[in-house]
Amino acid sequence: MTVYSELSPSPRTILTPGPVEVDPRVLRAMSYPILGQFDPEFTAIMNDAMAMLRSVFRTGNEWAYPVDGTSRSGIEAVLVSLIEPGDKVLIPIFGRFGYLLQEIAERCGAEVVVLEKTWGQVFDPEEVISAIRREKPELVAMVHGETSTGRIQPLKDIGHACRENDVLLVVDAVATIGGVPVDVDDWCLDAVIGGTQKCLSIPSGMSPITYNERAERKILKRKRVEKGIRQTADYGDPSKEGFSPIRSNYFDLSQLQDYWSPLRLNHHTEMTSMLYALREGLRIVLAEGLDARFARHRRQEAALVAGLSAMGLSLYGDASCKLPVVTCIDIPEGVDGESVRAMLLDSFGIEIASSFGPLKGKIWRIGTMGYSCSRKNVLHLLGALEAVLVRHRVPVNVGAGTQAALDAYDSV
Ligand SMILES: *Cc1c(COP(=O)(O)O)cnc(C)c1O
Repeated sequence: MTVYSELSPSPRTILTPGPVEVDPRVLRAMSYPILGQFDPEFTAIMNDAMAMLRSVFRTGNEWAYPVDGTSRSGIEAVLVSLIEPGDKVLIPIFGRFGYLLQEIAERCGAEVVVLEKTWGQVFDPEEVISAIRREKPELVAMVHGETSTGRIQPLKDIGHACRENDVLLVVDAVATIGGVPVDVDDWCLDAVIGGTQKCLSIPSGMSPITYNERAERKILKRKRVEKGIRQTADYGDPSKEGFSPIRSNYFDLSQLQDYWSPLRLNHHTEMTSMLYALREGLRIVLAEGLDARFARHRRQEAALVAGLSAMGLSLYGDASCKLPVVTCIDIPEGVDGESVRAMLLDSFGIEIASSFGPLKGKIWRIGTMGYSCSRKNVLHLLGALEAVLVRHRVPVNVGAGTQAALDAYDSV
């Protein structure tokens, strides 16, 4: 019989765009005893998590709660609940995760219209706004922080235009929530999906979402009641003309919001330990303060960029729309990017990322998110990367990278 060794993952310095390192207090929270899902103590934890999510999303929305599953489960729940088959959906795409929105919207039966941008850039909001006027979609879905290319899309003008034209705007803020401002109400975003394993620094496994009354109206119109749960069925007679029920049970936001509402109508069994992690992770985010947290991410980005540039490396993409929490480097001519990544991991215990599709083998991506976003990690990476590049015979300005980063820290 095979005897398996005890689990003992190596401590790593994780500088990828997720998953990232997790605060030990969050890991500890995950080891607490299980509570029953209707235990008042557990209900209080659910309510705390919802209240804290409203603060993190900067919204007065009633609905802010996690979908159980990775971030794409939140995306899928929002889209399957809001898109009726045949709805026209406009998707401006500037990287890999835009294509994910397209794929999910198509699976929901939408008539999808895409706008595509060369990778490394984002849209001028006017381009999207004129497409909204031209196409008159029911819904616009787009990414805020595109981790595949390291770019950030300004959303405020697009949000206001959607509101004026009575179009729902759905935003994938998986990579930005907790690291970069996401002003749900101020920007008029109707439904927003966040992620746990990026700037919130919680393990992967939940997707916090929020949506307003405009989105809720559409969801309730499509509400189908699960038999045997409610005493009265106010909604959702499937035989009614024109009724288009939400085509998923697990991702049905009308049922999920009943579960998170004071009704506590049973849907699934809440992920107890993940909810502990979410509550503790959000508590830590709010204790630091959102503005202080955004400033920390900016400070680490500035030091990292100064260091990489001084080393002689070139940064990928349009600098004017750089995503502060992901820094992309052009892999120098003739260098095997995977060999550099492997040596960073094997010799220094540092993980950085490669990219996808047209950028595979062309760039490295460095995430500075949440608990991973620290001076120690940035300096450790700059020193290690220099050593590894010298080993790979890449001409770098030896010594310059860490010194430039130290100078950047001194100047603030
Ligand atoms: C990471 C990421 C996702 C997918 O998240 P999963 O948790 O892997 O499902 C979606 N969108 C963006 C922008 C991301 O960075």
